Amino acid sequence: MKKIKLGSTGLEVAELGLGAMYLPRVAPEVSDALIQRALDLGIQYFDTASAYQDSEEKLGRVLSRRGKDFVITSRSASYKTGLDAFRQDFERSFERLKLPFIDFYGFHAVNQPGELEMVMKEPLFFLKEQKAGGRIGHIAITSHNPKTLSDALDTGEFELAMFPFNIIEQEPLDGLLAKAASLGVATSVMKPLAGGVIESTELALRFFFNHPAGVVTPGMMSIEQLEQNFTVFKERQPLSGGELQRLEDEVAVLGKEFCRRCSYCMPCPNGIMIPFVHMLHMKTWQKPMSDDVAYTLELAQRMLPALEKCTGCGACVEKCPYAIPTPQRVQELLQLLKSRSR
Ligand code: SF4
Ligand code: SF4
Repeated sequence: MKKIKLGSTGLEVAELGLGAMYLPRVAPEVSDALIQRALDLGIQYFDTASAYQDSEEKLGRVLSRRGKDFVITSRSASYKTGLDAFRQDFERSFERLKLPFIDFYGFHAVNQPGELEMVMKEPLFFLKEQKAGGRIGHIAITSHNPKTLSDALDTGEFELAMFPFNIIEQEPLDGLLAKAASLGVATSVMKPLAGGVIESTELALRFFFNHPAGVVTPGMMSIEQLEQNFTVFKERQPLSGGELQRLEDEVAVLGKEFCRRCSYCMPCPNGIMIPFVHMLHMKTWQKPMSDDVAYTLELAQRMLPALEKCTGCGACVEKCPYAIPTPQRVQELLQLLKSRSR
């Protein structure tokens, strides 16, 4: 597999990395086998976060038993609640990963200018101290907002920039990738499959051979997915014009306001499983009736009592990096379900 340099850090890794976001969904034996197989295939870059439930523990179970032949990134969004909370997450990352050293530690979900301001004070000073003390190698930043991320890179404080980039979200091509390259900042692609909403995964990954963008870290939770992704990166075939058109046609119906299933909006104070609401909505709202739609509505019917608890408080919209209108979609789903049960 092609190797890429991580900016000016001196590190070099295979172009395909492993995103650990979905590891909490599988049993420890499954994640052990998956991580082991990834290492055997030559994957070296692993991306996790304190917000990804037990993903750090699961990575730690395998990685802590190896020599240092991998690169790991972790991050926390707790700077939003103050230095103490951020420091706690930082220490917990070491405990969970059972590692003495983390290559990149970063600030998670720095989406708004106000969040960048929070980062640039005590939390950044803290990470700089940790770097000087040799516990971390480099300071990273993740953002869903290319403008905020671009402003962050201008400060010269970050050595790895992580952002969503895929056939639907191509904004990083408008200057962010070029800026990172010119500053020697490493780049890592989050959500290369747009949170799992693209069905043609092979084409979606081959998009990155038309637009190389650093290490690409699809979330994986089975060896089958890993092997498929690995084959795509080994063959490294850019998309032809016709294939690119097919992919663009597939995603055109999604628009920009689709749920990436990241769960940043969770928990809902009223116990609503928000990513599931969006999945049901996407499959059924304004869709012609078919066996598949009828089956999904049947499943959704069980959620009716939960959906009725939505107060429209908007907490989920505030936490969503894409400001997806969840309360509106809850109401639309309710309308659909009630019209069926009449
Ligand atoms: S608007 Fe509804 S779904 Fe969103 S957090 Fe509030 S109660 Fe939960
Ligand atoms: S509604 Fe937004 S925050 Fe919640 S899962 Fe979907 S994309 Fe993520």
